[in-house]
Amino acid sequence: MFAQNLIKRRQSTQIRVGNVLIGGDAPIAVQSMTNTNTLDVAATVAQIQAIAKAGADLVRVSVPTMDAAEAFKLIKQQSPIPLVADIHFDYRIALKVAEYGVDCLRINPGNIGREDRIRAVVDCARDHNIPIRIGVNGGSLEADIQEKYTEPTPEALVESAMRHVEILNRLNFDQFKVSVKASDVFLAVGAYRLLAKQIKQPLHLGITEAGGARAGAVKSAIGLGMLLAEGIGDTLRISLAADPVEEVKVAFDILKSLRIRSRGINFIACPSCSRQEFDVIKTMNQLEQRLEDIIDPLTVSVIGCVVNGPGEALVSDLGVAGASKKSGFYINGQRQKLRLDNDNVADQLEQQIRDYLQQKIAIRQQD
Ligand code: SF4
Repeated sequence: MFAQNLIKRRQSTQIRVGNVLIGGDAPIAVQSMTNTNTLDVAATVAQIQAIAKAGADLVRVSVPTMDAAEAFKLIKQQSPIPLVADIHFDYRIALKVAEYGVDCLRINPGNIGREDRIRAVVDCARDHNIPIRIGVNGGSLEADIQEKYTEPTPEALVESAMRHVEILNRLNFDQFKVSVKASDVFLAVGAYRLLAKQIKQPLHLGITEAGGARAGAVKSAIGLGMLLAEGIGDTLRISLAADPVEEVKVAFDILKSLRIRSRGINFIACPSCSRQEFDVIKTMNQLEQRLEDIIDPLTVSVIGCVVNGPGEALVSDLGVAGASKKSGFYINGQRQKLRLDNDNVADQLEQQIRDYLQQKIAIRQQD
């Protein structure tokens, strides 16, 4: 096995969102956001449950109106994971969802308006132990900042964020995290790098409006990958124009790739070629679908021939290396007597993976 990651994380303060710790030495938290109508309580709860099942630690829900705040009350009662309420401008909604048990308020204090209203929200957050997320977006900078910088720049995003930070500092409230998202990778990365030097609070990472499932995942992996590899980031959301469950899967794939946080199977699979002894792509598609329920970290290599198969099996918990008629099967890098029938690798490998995990669980329970 390769060494664990050597990334040195930026030292941030820690906040608590419901039962999830963010920042400090807490695992990097994965977040997603519902895209249902919040007024449709059943649909929103169902989506939150799917997002939670995929492994998300937190989920954000838009609360644009007082009616939505009433729906939020019912949603909160049924949510298996902490909820962040997304609120713009209307401070009364923030006060209402605080009463209903919200775990985090995503609201920019500078957008609330009058000083007494800002103070009311911050005092309410303090009284209820609710942290705030300041969220700056390259697409909605204040008019005067846009005028000053003429176009969104990292400095412009950070100046906007610091205005909100300074309001909270002035009110002696330090339980917050900050995001400076942009749809442009370099803009977002530059802004997070700058902000990381200016505040100690946790940073929530995201490439906003990243695009559809494939392009958005790539963009997010590049941007967030650069930051995470530098130790920047305490929580993240992948913003895809797709099912939010996909956002969670992509987030974990990024964290797994950097060996920051494991969840489920890390597959090593070759692209296949005419040397393949079994259908690698079909096997991979079947395994990925069937093994989504597995949350234990595990590395499995699925390689079509002996060119790379045994070598990859050496760095995997389980591995298959294609060979004529029956393929070689490995556990912890050791070749097993059992060989897998090339017409049916997925079924046999699935069974072996499940048996292996059962044994691991049994050993854990004995310890
Ligand atoms: S491992 Fe073998 S089958 Fe897979 S791509 Fe390489 S040469 Fe082809």
